[in-house]
Amino acid sequence: MNTSIESLVRPNILALKPYTSARDEFQSAPSAAVSPSEMVFLDANENSLGGPLEEDYSRYPDPHQKRLKAIIGAQRNLLSGQIFLGNGSDEAIDLLIRVFCEPGRDAVLLLPPTYGMYAVQAAIQNARIERIPLKPDFNPDIPAIRKAGKDCKLLFLCSPNNPTGNRFATEDVREILSFFPGIVVVDEAYIDFSATPSLTGLIDEFPNLVVLQTFSKGWGLAGLRVGMAFSNAFIIQMLDKIKYPYNLDVVTMRLLETALQCGSVVQEKIDTLLEERNRLAAGLNKIPCVKQVFPSDANFLLVRVSDADAIYARLCAQGMVVRNRSKEIHCENCLRITIGAPDENDRLLDLMKDL
Ligand SMILES: *Cc1c(COP(=O)(O)O)cnc(C)c1O
Repeated sequence: MNTSIESLVRPNILALKPYTSARDEFQSAPSAAVSPSEMVFLDANENSLGGPLEEDYSRYPDPHQKRLKAIIGAQRNLLSGQIFLGNGSDEAIDLLIRVFCEPGRDAVLLLPPTYGMYAVQAAIQNARIERIPLKPDFNPDIPAIRKAGKDCKLLFLCSPNNPTGNRFATEDVREILSFFPGIVVVDEAYIDFSATPSLTGLIDEFPNLVVLQTFSKGWGLAGLRVGMAFSNAFIIQMLDKIKYPYNLDVVTMRLLETALQCGSVVQEKIDTLLEERNRLAAGLNKIPCVKQVFPSDANFLLVRVSDADAIYARLCAQGMVVRNRSKEIHCENCLRITIGAPDENDRLLDLMKDL
């Protein structure tokens, strides 16, 4: 593997010998002359009599999530070894920081306004946080990133960005990937709502690229907690090394396998939400207290209003909860509004008209 990427990894993580589960050891042993159904597994201290529920959950799940990775890989034209699955993409964010950032020494570069978890996970790891705000048009300030990025281990680029909703130009991301000396994490949580294709196709070209995606937004499975990281096999191995061995449970994996066969249902819902995004934006633009509706490649709209705090409070009082982002840089008086179901969007428009 590319030695420059290897040299970015914390030495203790590089040297770490990960936990091997009972089933790992068995799989690397010579195969027995017994058929699989006759095998007896007394190797993992599971409860041989089963659990109290009707369904049997007494066995540990596959720590390598082989079946899911095969399906996801086939759908995205990636190898299983280029895929990490975790408890939401939040787990991947946490593990990336822990693989690359020596506490108290290494830095991550963030481009605010952006997703809040990057800073929280960096702070937990006691990584230094450098910030280069997006330009007022919400695009990355490339010369400033070039300068500040010199001694940063990780850069988090969120595209489409939360909370601004815009996507970054692929040429800009390519340029950043070319000069940034550390790992560039492109968070594509909202890619299913975007007109641009995913950057997973650049993984072979840029050894410092990690792409994050999630089943929480476009796939409508936030409650299951499954996120993905795509990168070269070396970086994926580092994440796998430090994850909890059984980070996805049996129920989640089974349900996700079913969901992955329902791509056309998912796409229909996404199409509806995209139509609703247009309709909501048009409706909001006609309302006097709305000053600006920013273009969106996501399933939410960033909306500048006359007085965000007051409008937020009045919407809440009417049972309509949106996100007040007005304290974020360049987001003065801005609310972030998730695209709802058609009747929810009608209700929001009615409430906003009456303000
Ligand atoms: C919602 C969101 C996530 C979180 O995804 P999970 O898979 O639910 O953890 C990650 N990144 C961004 C930018 C998000 O908005």
